[in-house]
Amino acid sequence: MIDFHTHTFLSDGEVCPAELVQRAKGKGYTVLGITDHVDLTNIDWIIPRLVKFCEQINKVEDKIKVIPGVELTHLPPSLIASMAKEARQKGAKLILVHGETIVEPVSPGTNEAALKANIDILAHPGNITEEEVKLAAKRGIYLEISARKGHSLTNGRVAMLARKYGAKLVLGSDAHAPEDLITLDQGKRILQGAGLFSLEIEEVFKNAQELEEKITNEKK
Ligand SMILES: [Zn+2]
Ligand SMILES: [Zn+2]
Repeated sequence: MIDFHTHTFLSDGEVCPAELVQRAKGKGYTVLGITDHVDLTNIDWIIPRLVKFCEQINKVEDKIKVIPGVELTHLPPSLIASMAKEARQKGAKLILVHGETIVEPVSPGTNEAALKANIDILAHPGNITEEEVKLAAKRGIYLEISARKGHSLTNGRVAMLARKYGAKLVLGSDAHAPEDLITLDQGKRILQGAGLFSLEIEEVFKNAQELEEKITNEKK
């Protein structure tokens, strides 16, 4: 399983990064992105800690690779592009933006601002418009199918519009606790539940590999 969206107690997750890695290994993960929530208050201390942690863990773990990232969360849309830039400069290899769904009052305009910024994944973007999906396809930004309660209510719309406009999808657990991590089998069922056909499900897993390779090559 490749999962680019998880949280630890560096933000609002339940366990420390080291435990999340062990729990993920237990679920058969091969790649784990740790993407704690950041805003203006904590971007400068979360990223360096995750970068250092991942560097050291990746030297000693051979079954799992850990990637340091962030989820830019509840920012005013006008700050998203500059914060994404800052996150990259500070060493985040994976930049997610906490998108607009029907379960949280994320600022309107967040999805659009995120898709114009230098980010990798727009997380749970359920309230997305058709124009925004076209922009995601054009800019090569992945749209997330979410395993998280609440955010997953709008997976169907994301899947349907991604198919219509050729945007690429990835699956994210958005785990805040170890039990939220998903197995490959659960992942397949969630994608199926979002309305994807078998070949499209394979495509989602291929997209994850492609993004993982892109991140690895950037490091060199
Ligand atoms: Zn989120
Ligand atoms: Zn999240």
